[in-house]
Amino acid sequence: MEDLITCKFGGTSLANACQVDKVRSIVESDERRRYVVVSAPGKDGTDDEKVTDHLFNIATGGKHFKDQHKDIPPHDSFSRVSGKFKKLVTDLGIEGSDILKDLEADLRRDMPQEKRVDFIASRGEHYNAKVITRYLQSKGFNASLRLPEDIGIVVSEDFSDARVLPESYARLKELRDADGIAVIPGYYGTTRSGDVAVFSRGGSDLTGGEVAYSIDSALYENWTDTDGVYQVDPRLVPGAEVIPRLTYKEIRLLSSKGFDIFHFNAMINCKKRKIPIHIRNTNNPDSDGTLIVSERVPEETAVGIARLDDVAYIYVEKDGLAEVIGATKDVLDILKEYSVHTYHYPTDKDDLAILVDQNDLMGKADVIREEIDKALCPDVLDMIYNISVISPVGIGMKENPGILAQAATALKNENINIEIVDQGPAQISFHFGMQRYYADDALSALYRELIARD
Ligand code: ASP
Repeated sequence: MEDLITCKFGGTSLANACQVDKVRSIVESDERRRYVVVSAPGKDGTDDEKVTDHLFNIATGGKHFKDQHKDIPPHDSFSRVSGKFKKLVTDLGIEGSDILKDLEADLRRDMPQEKRVDFIASRGEHYNAKVITRYLQSKGFNASLRLPEDIGIVVSEDFSDARVLPESYARLKELRDADGIAVIPGYYGTTRSGDVAVFSRGGSDLTGGEVAYSIDSALYENWTDTDGVYQVDPRLVPGAEVIPRLTYKEIRLLSSKGFDIFHFNAMINCKKRKIPIHIRNTNNPDSDGTLIVSERVPEETAVGIARLDDVAYIYVEKDGLAEVIGATKDVLDILKEYSVHTYHYPTDKDDLAILVDQNDLMGKADVIREEIDKALCPDVLDMIYNISVISPVGIGMKENPGILAQAATALKNENINIEIVDQGPAQISFHFGMQRYYADDALSALYRELIARD
């Protein structure tokens, strides 16, 4: 079977004409790059916001930015989106008046609000794919536009968090027989009743993963604006290096915790077919990037350290709590009812803590407290905010006794108090919860102890 490459280009790789031309050159340099999944144009210094954020702002009548305490009215977002595409078309030297006209008509389109938000949010990818297809054609490529609604990316009706339904795969497989280069907008699909629904944010990675899986790509390239996945955030720890190889499991653990380089669900299907994922830099295509594979022989103990901020924990204490069958479940049910995302649940004889996304508690903390009181009548019920979770990850840790002790000692030497400890059952990660003001120092101390010394 012919080796085919699916490549996904992120927003910064497509933020302006100069970037789009880099993408052209990358696609041109390897004829196996036949499936090109594109994001909406990202930030490029001319605007502090991404096109997708402006689209959400238009769809929500300005609420999207207002919630972030930014004063950008929807009509302003409208002009910025249409201006961005106008400039792109002009700078690329292509005829695009029809594309611009259709874009503006879509942004003004009247439809029920719950469907309109996703429809508008998807327009960045939709129209960017149109522009890029036309640009590639103008440069002599045999490129064609393959819209999710035509190639059968069928998704669940979970608006703004849609999932690809299994019936999509057989349809997507047909893309293997297509000639030339297929340009596919990321981030959305259509429901069985034909409505547009978008994935969670960063969801073009998911489209790339699903296309790679369906056509059984030899490789899924994810082109972004950094040289790969770093051991720790290099903005916080100077000297941190790009990790050459990671397993699917490791990248999932890292990207679920602040490594927002790659959508953590995007590799699920690639993993099933052992399709390697290569994270590469559009602005530096000669760098090696990070290759994500199913197995590797670890030469180190911890390979990376993730950090997650804005965590809170709900602490419940009651004598004999562990003997109450289903006590943890009761609390989790309440959190589920109020759509609060949870991370870890350390428990003991008389108490339990549930780590949650602190932003999800906004405006709901009192009622959640009342519900837990009603369900468990605890002796103590606290909500502790501004926690950071620092998580060393690495398959090498499993075979290395004492790594947790080594890490805890490094924190002790910095006088950092650990409030929560949780080891992942696969023994390839552990998590320290602490007050946020310790997090920078903790990250540096753990990097020095577990990675730089290795
Ligand atoms: N444009 C969407 C976002 O900003 C999806 C993506 O870029 O992957 O989240």
